[in-house]
Amino acid sequence: MDFSLDHLIRENIRNLQPYATARHEFSGEAKVMLDANENAIGSPVTLDIAGKHELLNRYPDPVQQKLKHRISEIKGVPVENIFTGNGSDEAIDVLFRIFCEPGIDNVITLPPTYGMYSVAAAINNVKVKQVQLTEEFQMDIQAIADAVDEYTKMIFICSPNNPSGNSITRQDIEIILNNFDGIVVVDEAYINYARQKTLSLQLNDYPNLVVLQTLSKAWGLAALRLGFAFAGKWIIDIMNNVKYPYNINIATQELALLALQNVEKVNEWTRKIIEERILLEKELTDLPFVENIYPSDANFLLVKMQGADDIFKYLQTKGIIVRNRSNVPGCEDCLRITVGTAEENRELVQALKNYQ
Ligand SMILES: *Cc1c(COP(=O)(O)O)cnc(C)c1O
Repeated sequence: MDFSLDHLIRENIRNLQPYATARHEFSGEAKVMLDANENAIGSPVTLDIAGKHELLNRYPDPVQQKLKHRISEIKGVPVENIFTGNGSDEAIDVLFRIFCEPGIDNVITLPPTYGMYSVAAAINNVKVKQVQLTEEFQMDIQAIADAVDEYTKMIFICSPNNPSGNSITRQDIEIILNNFDGIVVVDEAYINYARQKTLSLQLNDYPNLVVLQTLSKAWGLAALRLGFAFAGKWIIDIMNNVKYPYNINIATQELALLALQNVEKVNEWTRKIIEERILLEKELTDLPFVENIYPSDANFLLVKMQGADDIFKYLQTKGIIVRNRSNVPGCEDCLRITVGTAEENRELVQALKNYQ
């Protein structure tokens, strides 16, 4: 543990006696398993993937060792620095439960940004201080410094940011990491699409850094629910103590292992989506009602349009759903458009050309 940061952890969590399963320490070849009150006879359904016929009657690996080894190979992050969760959303919730005393502590978010930080805060009865991003959707470092008080435990930085799409300047993130005496969570859900490099290889430089990534976006596995947190061992160890013991079910663990063999395919898809994004941006620029397309490092575009509300409703009548962000402060008159397949994008552009 990094003792200089020990004080950030809630006292009840610091004193927590974590739940230990009989198999937490066991790594040998078990022949007779009579420790967990499972049904020894079998399971009514089985998991049949990759030529394997797996019964479901036994509890899954609580620390997901195989999965973490594979993630470690791909990401270049040591296993001891990896937490796996039921989506990044689980990691976010666990971080609140570790660091924020309900009703006392607060966190800082940087709107317009991802909604889950505030929802997780509200669920945990933790106050949120909002510091608006600038007009270019970058951090206002001075305003953030002014908002920090002795009860501020975490700052959430989403980069590339949802819904604006841009990366947050790395130098600015480093200023926060170097100067804030709390946890800095950098949400890299869209990092595969970004020109900016991940911060997950900088964990040794910043003991207060938590990087979030997910299989839900570039990896095309939103339905599987698997997210990662990369952080110093002192944080990961506590996250593992606080999470539900068997938070990743066996189907997700096995399917993710299989999916993680497809790095090349995902890279190819990512290149394709970026090409489509650039093309879509060109086509949208030509439309008379489009006022601004914000620079994107992600798989979506934030587009400012005259009459965004009406255009949103019009698209719905054509069976095309985009995200209406026009009521979000900082995103007035903006729609957030996910880059789809080539056909879907052409359909969108055609519909917009036919508008009015
Ligand atoms: C989509 C998204 C996520 C993904 O959350 P999961 O729970 O892993 O599906 C996380 N952060 C941001 C900013 C997102 O847009």
